[in-house]
Amino acid sequence: MAKAFGTEFMPEMAITWFDGDSWDTPEMVSSDSLPMHPASHVLHYSSTCFEGLKAFRQEDGAIKIFRMDQNIKRFAQSSRLLALPPINETTTRQMILDTVAKFKDQVPNAPGSMYIRPTHMGTEQSIGKAAGPSSTSCQFILLSPVGDYFSSGASALRVLIDDEGMRCAPHMGMIKSGGNYASALNPILEAREKYQADQILFAPNGDVQETGAANFLLIDGNEIITKALDESFLHGVTRDSLLTIARDNGMKISERELPVTELLERIKDPRCEAALSGTAAVLAPVGTFIYKDEEYSVGNGQLGPVTKQLRSQLNAIQWGQAEDKHDWLTTV
Ligand SMILES: *Cc1c(COP(=O)(O)O)cnc(C)c1O
Repeated sequence: MAKAFGTEFMPEMAITWFDGDSWDTPEMVSSDSLPMHPASHVLHYSSTCFEGLKAFRQEDGAIKIFRMDQNIKRFAQSSRLLALPPINETTTRQMILDTVAKFKDQVPNAPGSMYIRPTHMGTEQSIGKAAGPSSTSCQFILLSPVGDYFSSGASALRVLIDDEGMRCAPHMGMIKSGGNYASALNPILEAREKYQADQILFAPNGDVQETGAANFLLIDGNEIITKALDESFLHGVTRDSLLTIARDNGMKISERELPVTELLERIKDPRCEAALSGTAAVLAPVGTFIYKDEEYSVGNGQLGPVTKQLRSQLNAIQWGQAEDKHDWLTTV
């Protein structure tokens, strides 16, 4: 039995510390512990952000990382929006390449991959800085080999639509930061308990946004409808990649507000598909929505043809089976 996603780690990671003035030279250290003072800023005031990207083994054995530059850009932006010390993007890039290169042999074969988790956190030893940024910080690159997300035969998801609560504070939405996930936990636990839902699709004020850790796409015939980028939600690299592939396929992309009422109206058409996008699963189908205690099935409640097609097209690029015409892969 394979270990659960994200519970197995490579024994070493690249790490670098910011001392208030500059970043020290990155080192490769054991990944089984992190020396931190209990007063570290992150432990009290959540000054932390992270990234999630993957390295893929190609059929010829080469190892390539998917859209690394986009993840580094977002990592830099998250750091900035949390008033963490600025990262040096070139250094982060090199740390990722060095760490993956070190464990190249252990990158699983497709459909598995090496999940890469860059993390940045405030380390200043001060519990008096509730209203001040951490002047020091630490950045590391943790690796976790992962298997096929769909190997357990994961079926289409049950998704509760919540138009009353929200995932996180609206101005925090585009930051990939720990506190946002903690803030969505109790609603998700409640949705599991009460509705056996897998996820919550947050739709503040009736405007369909995203789930706890994935973006939302409605696929209606030749059109994809998804919320236009704003600061209230996470700008997924997978979302952008799938929209690019769909555009290349000749599909119409509508980035705009999608009211819950319109979503429920559109899925009455059994050809309509709904899916969640993110690095872990690429694109996972929604089979059922639950809204105000009523259930609505999407299509036949299973994986639809367009969802399947888009996911395999993106996987084919990642695995080196299709042309990388947008230059998304970096060789390690
Ligand atoms: C990471 C994440 C996503 C998906 O982003 P990708 O870059 O596609 O992996 C979507 N929503 C949230 C809240 C996330 O944390």
